[in-house]
Amino acid sequence: MVRAPPCHGGSCGFEPRRSRFPHKKFILKVRVRLAPSPTGNLHIGTARTALFNWLFARHEGGDFLIRIEDTDKERSKVEFTENILEGLNWLGLNWDETPVIQSQRSDSHRKAILQLLDKGLAYRCYTSEAELEEMRKKQKDQGQPPRYDNRHRDLSPAQEEAFKAEGKTAVIRFRIQDETTITWNDLVRGHMSWSAADLGGDMVIARRASANEIGDPLYNLVVVLDDAEMRISHVIRGEDHIANTAKQILLYEALGLPLPNFAHTPLILNPQGRKLSKRDGVTSINDFRAMGYTAEAMANYMTLLGWSVPEGMEERFTVQEASKVFGFDRVNKAGAKFDWDKLNWLNSQVIHELPPEKLLQLLEPLWLEAGWDLPEKKWCLELATLLGPSLTLVKDGVEQAKPFFEEPPLKPDGIKQLALTDAQKGLKNLQEQLERTPWDGVNNQTAQDLITSVAKATDVKKGLLMKSLRAALLGQMQGPDLITTWGLLARVGKDRARLRVNL
Ligand code: GLU
Repeated sequence: MVRAPPCHGGSCGFEPRRSRFPHKKFILKVRVRLAPSPTGNLHIGTARTALFNWLFARHEGGDFLIRIEDTDKERSKVEFTENILEGLNWLGLNWDETPVIQSQRSDSHRKAILQLLDKGLAYRCYTSEAELEEMRKKQKDQGQPPRYDNRHRDLSPAQEEAFKAEGKTAVIRFRIQDETTITWNDLVRGHMSWSAADLGGDMVIARRASANEIGDPLYNLVVVLDDAEMRISHVIRGEDHIANTAKQILLYEALGLPLPNFAHTPLILNPQGRKLSKRDGVTSINDFRAMGYTAEAMANYMTLLGWSVPEGMEERFTVQEASKVFGFDRVNKAGAKFDWDKLNWLNSQVIHELPPEKLLQLLEPLWLEAGWDLPEKKWCLELATLLGPSLTLVKDGVEQAKPFFEEPPLKPDGIKQLALTDAQKGLKNLQEQLERTPWDGVNNQTAQDLITSVAKATDVKKGLLMKSLRAALLGQMQGPDLITTWGLLARVGKDRARLRVNL
């Protein structure tokens, strides 16, 4: 793959920064990551985030890494991790290092919390669920947004001792100074500014803690620690993480860790303009795969969900081509509406460009799944070549191949055609001719000759005869090239090429 040289100038938005650590003077290499939670199959939103990370990494000659965020023990499952990795692989998004498993890093997460506690930047909070509920209710009644009122921020040693003696469970909270303003230069959204007062009060960084235990470290803290440990230069993720970014910046500062760059990509919306959700029917990459979309069309389409091609570039491209020109300057701020027509168009383009061998690789498992006995490979390749140009989805190739493997049902347009007097006359004569012709001898030339001679002998128009032949073979008026179809049918057996003249 040709990679563009690393860009550390202005256009990619990546500014080399001086680290606070003397042994890491400059961060010169772009390192990005996808950090999926394995609580479901690979979601289209996650796949699109992966794609933008991958495109940026490849454009910059950097690394694309994966971290499996499996700290939610109840909901995380190994099969989801497998599905996510397999889906990324299918889309052609290769990663550069062995995926990091977040749960294996919990010791260092706990160590960092201890440091924050030691420095007085975090504290144990014993407020119960019921007390929190009451607090929220009061705030609601007074028309205020819900927030923790920091009531356990400065417990006296005696109060702490009392809670400890009671054996109360705790959470660990990180102090947020309300008067702080958090700013960053987002690579997609430009200058961003958040008031710390809008972050809901001191932030919980571990739950299920106690007076002696740290408990379970939570997302915002662990993500900061892991991104720093993995030397991530750019955090690229969906705009639903903007508030998290504000919180995480405070943690980077408290922990003395160098800040990465941030890019928040637009959400994927359904055609009605609402966030794409389960209600829209398809959300996981598996769903699209099962519907017959190719990996190449999916990756192409997802790149266009929020990124626009530079002038002069076609919207049909491979991810390798896109990676040469990808940058955040062409990523939109507005949500990206899902456009089925465009996806279908791209998919049909990809299918039409596939060499027959590749198309057959996609069709063969579906044909076998349909329970059909497949003849020799050469025949199958011919069928794939015949059907290819009319396919939008790979799975359309099952419906369209049906007449080649099963007795096709007669459709109303086929019945109408076969009922014509001239159709009956022409087909009867054709049938008689065929009785004298070896079935496997029907090739393009003999078929053309037969049709011409029957049309002449019966005085039936050649066009009408051909239409009738199509109805007689396929039971309907739609289908691929007639002569090739007939030849293929004839070569798998007499019964398949049978004409329905008596109907
Ligand atoms: N595990 C988080 C998610 O799946 C990661 C978000 C991030 O990229 O920081 O939403």
